[in-house]
Amino acid sequence: MTIGKYSFGMGDRFGHQGKAQLAVLQKAKEAGVTISPVWNKSYREHQIIYTTQDSVRQEADEAIQVLGWKDAYFVDADHVGLKNVDGFIQASDFFTLDVADFIGEKAVAAAIQSFVDSQKGLIGSLKIAGLDDPIDVTEELIKSAAEKYLFAVQKAGETYRYISGKKGNSDFVPEVSMDETDAPQTPVEMLFILAMIAMEKIPAQTIAPKFTGRFNKGVDYVGDVDQFAKEFEEDLAVIQFAVKQFGLPSNLKLSVHSGSDKFAIYNSIQKALKKYDAGVHVKTAGTTWLEELIGLAESGGDGLKIAKEVYASAFGRFDELCGPYATVIDIDLARLPDPAEVDCWDGPTYASTLRHDQSNANYNPHFRQLLHVGYKVASEMGERFLQALKDNEAVIAKHVTENLWERHIKRLFL
Ligand SMILES: [Zn+2]
Repeated sequence: MTIGKYSFGMGDRFGHQGKAQLAVLQKAKEAGVTISPVWNKSYREHQIIYTTQDSVRQEADEAIQVLGWKDAYFVDADHVGLKNVDGFIQASDFFTLDVADFIGEKAVAAAIQSFVDSQKGLIGSLKIAGLDDPIDVTEELIKSAAEKYLFAVQKAGETYRYISGKKGNSDFVPEVSMDETDAPQTPVEMLFILAMIAMEKIPAQTIAPKFTGRFNKGVDYVGDVDQFAKEFEEDLAVIQFAVKQFGLPSNLKLSVHSGSDKFAIYNSIQKALKKYDAGVHVKTAGTTWLEELIGLAESGGDGLKIAKEVYASAFGRFDELCGPYATVIDIDLARLPDPAEVDCWDGPTYASTLRHDQSNANYNPHFRQLLHVGYKVASEMGERFLQALKDNEAVIAKHVTENLWERHIKRLFL
């Protein structure tokens, strides 16, 4: 099973928008660009709203069937490791092997030494097409990369082999992810990480590094755009080199765990992909859920009431809801509107405060981030919330499709 050049990861907390999401990639296909849909849901999300990966598989299969999608599609076990992968094995065919927590833990000395020995051929001034300067590779440089990353890559290997064993085959897409950590990996580190992945015999098709800058959930990139662009291009250059040098799968590509809505860097990504004729996997977060809230607010009546209740409750449960997402959100409490004030808003005011349109004076990224992590509240509403989604399906689906198409796919791929 191989993933195509372009793929797009989509989250759908409540599992009702699979068709509206797929419709976006159908539009892209009609416009001449084939992008594989990947439905992703993390262990964290499943835990918070008591769903299983089987429900994601069901949603994906149904969307594919109803819309008659003929190309490949995938169900991503998003951010898994040995301790939580079991519930994902049958339903998933894309596995994001998250080993960020193991970065910095040292592998045994013999393993580090044998890695250093295996890479001695690179010692010297290493020229990689696309990099401005050659890399001055020394034994110390290889060793320090091994001390920092080898243990983590070994963990990815262990998880990969565990999944293959349980599935009874290796017919799935493995991704190695190191994005959920504080320090970005440099392109030079990426080179050696790829060498380690090859040594562990993980046929990785995508790799998700931590890039420079903040990738908060549902809001724009915060950081140095030029620095990001340089790093992204260098990563592409290193991957092209590593595929040949280490014998990795020829379709190996970068995976950008964008957290959605990184408009500031979409242009850099698009330019770099063209320059290197490279593929990419862009994973978005569950912002489809925010389009559900926008649709409910705009429908007025009970929909608007639900949207307001979700905010009031999320506001009161700030610490509980934000806790699991502490490293990927930045909310200024002082910038959150008082729930009593929100209670007086009409639907369009609520919707324009939430919608990620930076040209609208109402847009409030703090309000947006809190609601992004506030899906637990809607989950607890149970049938009332799900029924509202069904009752307002048409208007919500329009927003889901429009958001992904106008703000993401068009800017990234067309
Ligand atoms: Zn991630």
